[in-house]
Amino acid sequence: MAVSALPEVVVVGHGVVGLTTALALSEAGWAVSAVSDRAHRATTSAVAGALWGPYVCDDPRVLGWSLGSLPDLVALAADPRSGVRMAQGMEASREQADAPAWLHSVQGFAICHPSELPPGFGWGWTYQAPVFDMPVHLDYLMGRLVASGARVRLLDRPLRDLDEALDIAPVVVNCTGLGAGQLVGDRKVVPSWGQLVITENPGIDGFFSDHPESEDPTYWIAHPDYIVLGGTVRHGKGDLLSDPEVADEIVTRCRAVRPALARVRIKEIRVGLRPTRPRVRLERSAHRGAPVVHNYGHGGSGVTLAWGCARQVQSLIG
Ligand SMILES: Cc1cc2nc3c(=O)[nH]c(=O)nc-3n(C[C@H](O)[C@H](O)[C@H](O)COP(=O)(O)OP(=O)(O)OC[C@H]3O[C@@H](n4cnc5c(N)ncnc54)[C@H](O)[C@@H]3O)c2cc1C
Repeated sequence: MAVSALPEVVVVGHGVVGLTTALALSEAGWAVSAVSDRAHRATTSAVAGALWGPYVCDDPRVLGWSLGSLPDLVALAADPRSGVRMAQGMEASREQADAPAWLHSVQGFAICHPSELPPGFGWGWTYQAPVFDMPVHLDYLMGRLVASGARVRLLDRPLRDLDEALDIAPVVVNCTGLGAGQLVGDRKVVPSWGQLVITENPGIDGFFSDHPESEDPTYWIAHPDYIVLGGTVRHGKGDLLSDPEVADEIVTRCRAVRPALARVRIKEIRVGLRPTRPRVRLERSAHRGAPVVHNYGHGGSGVTLAWGCARQVQSLIG
């Protein structure tokens, strides 16, 4: 293992944002300690569907970070161990709508003929995007982080404040998602409750998402062994209880779009809390004179934005 010439950094958080940021820094030569009070498979990130694309995140910088993440994700998709695959899928609308202009530059983009759309939809487009098997992807990031020489530690309780983080290393990167509310007293970070239904895969590939965003979106993301059906967006709801009625509604909506989902067995219901914030907090500040870079509040797009934001942390810290 090479001895780093750069100062030690503590990255707080083992979700997709923390692990990706820690990995980018460690592979760039920083001596990284990656700490968390939860194991990576017990984070919000492990619940996500997950599909690449800006979602439930109102921040003008999101597009740049999403597109900035793409080259890293396309590279990861070449390695089956990463849990990332490129898939061709569809977004469709019941009302007249145009595909967002930025999507035109994405691989595989084409406007759909109305005959290709599910019943009830009049407008739609297809494109290629990374899809993530999140438990596998988080395992992969963790494995690569350890292999890069970073020190990884699971804490027996949450850090109380930045003073405790600075006791670990002289530079702090805060990737605590919703936990930032407690760690740095940020009241702007608010949960957005989301529920997913996981079913067997009867032989479906790709993904579907309705347009535009709503509180009760209809989407499905196919993985080789299972399909993720979604979803819900309940801003401000902060419990982790699943709702069987909501699960039934999700299944009904998805079956209407994709009749092949009519007879599939439900394997699991997942609930998670998106860390929403009016704007993502990605900035460098100081605490007791020490550098602190915040990287949290990615709403429904943390998986999408992780690499783009990690690259920006690298330049902010450098
Ligand atoms: C149902 C659902 C579907 C989603 N689908 C998608 C999707 O398709 N595409 C997409 O891009 N995004 C999706 N998201 C959003 C995505 O999951 C989040 O934006 C992302 O997981 C946030 O990652 P994070 O690393 O910031 O937070 P988290 O995964 O919550 O990780 C935070 C980490 O910080 C640690 N921590 C917090 N406080 C402290 C403390 N005080 N001390 C020590 N450690 C601490 C936690 O233990 C954890 O390890 C979805 C979310 C949900 C709920």
